[in-house]
Amino acid sequence: MSAIRYNQVIMSEVGGSMAAETLCPLCGMENQCGRAAGCPPGSCWCDQSVFPAALLEQIPLEARNKACICKHCLERFVAAQASEPN
Ligand SMILES: [Zn+2]
Ligand SMILES: [Zn+2]
Repeated sequence: MSAIRYNQVIMSEVGGSMAAETLCPLCGMENQCGRAAGCPPGSCWCDQSVFPAALLEQIPLEARNKACICKHCLERFVAAQASEPN
């Protein structure tokens, strides 16, 4: 029965660490992280980006240091900061 096999494949993918690492902890969309895709450190766009501490604080504790914030969330946060009179 191929249906049983199919279920086992899905279960192993969800149970692995890949699922959480490829999703942005803030919006739940794919974060396009090169490191989660298996690329060496330094090759991901996030390695060339600066993440403000205030943005990192929005990540749930259990998700910190596991998955990248996506580029969209970073740019949105930076834009919001820049538009604030300070
Ligand atoms: Zn995001
Ligand atoms: Zn990354």
